Amino acid sequence: MDRSLNDYKRITVKIGSALLVEMGRLKRKWLESLADDLQALSEGGKEVMVVSSGSIALGRGVLGLPAGPLRLEQAQAAASVGQIALAQAYSEILGVRGLTAGQILLTLGDTEERRRYLNARETIGTLLRMGAVPIINENDSVATSEIRYGDNDRLSARVATMASADLLVLLSDVDGLYTAAPQTDPDAVFLPEVPQVTQEIEAMAGAPGTAFSSGGMKTKIDAARIVQSAGTSMIIASGNTMNPLDAIENGARATWFPAPSSPARARKTWISGHLKPRGTIQLDAGALKAVKAGKSLLPAGVTKVDGTFTRGDAVRITDADGHDVGRGLVAYDFGEASLIVGRNSKEIEAIVGYPGRAEMIHTDDLVLSTCEMDNS
Ligand code: GLU
Repeated sequence: MDRSLNDYKRITVKIGSALLVEMGRLKRKWLESLADDLQALSEGGKEVMVVSSGSIALGRGVLGLPAGPLRLEQAQAAASVGQIALAQAYSEILGVRGLTAGQILLTLGDTEERRRYLNARETIGTLLRMGAVPIINENDSVATSEIRYGDNDRLSARVATMASADLLVLLSDVDGLYTAAPQTDPDAVFLPEVPQVTQEIEAMAGAPGTAFSSGGMKTKIDAARIVQSAGTSMIIASGNTMNPLDAIENGARATWFPAPSSPARARKTWISGHLKPRGTIQLDAGALKAVKAGKSLLPAGVTKVDGTFTRGDAVRITDADGHDVGRGLVAYDFGEASLIVGRNSKEIEAIVGYPGRAEMIHTDDLVLSTCEMDNS
């Protein structure tokens, strides 16, 4: 096994609070070294985004709150103060390296409710295409327990899959997964690679009474399960070093969780197999030829729409004779879709009243049953 960050194109890096904040103060030198690594990846043609913890720890320092557990409203106030300081630090530190930071604060609903998910996915994708670096955290100052992730391991897993990242790097104070708690068990064996999260693996992370499990390994294994099935690989590595990403490249100890397929392929499997179609979109012969060639489906090539679908729903795709040829996630609600059937994409704004997407179904969201169109 000889893996490299260079094998990946879109990388999400998750940073734990303890790496960034010490005694309520930002570890600026460390963040600068991480920014050097991000700059190197970006200059190497990678798209990078960061899920950063640290707002509560930092805000606590700024507000001078005492050590020990915080009440919810104190933690939320600390998050509010800390987040602004955190974002400013990222913006400055990335800025001097020629990288533009964009802040995104998410709550659970943004990754779990389809419409909000689509919007967040779109914003992150747009930032990445523009060469900016999304800096993401949970919106802790408004999220309360029942609508909260509470940990950035699982949040980063959902963000990575939402953004179709092909790699998630979890940086924390542990350097990987062991068969038992290495601090207390001399027989603990380090696992360099976990191809699949089995019950045995879960037991290693969650065995009660181990110091290791309370160190947050459970949420990291949850994250691995989320990402692997969506085609995103994951690494657990230590951030307790300067230039932690460069260190991984140079062989620092880390546990790799390789995904069995790519995000694009996993997404297409999900679209073709697991979604109940809520309508039908009929294509003319030219549009069918175009989508077979890997193009997106434009309204101009659609002859008919049927159903009760809303934006993001799965629809059946048929040829001019009504034969089923595939599935896709539609970019418009039925009402709007029926208005733009057969029309040129340039007319969309005048018809629906806002500058909607040029495609009825984007090629990433479209899978044909009769031919292989995904080259990823
Ligand atoms: N969102 C929290 C913060 O920024 C951190 C959650 C976690 O550490 O996993 O303070």
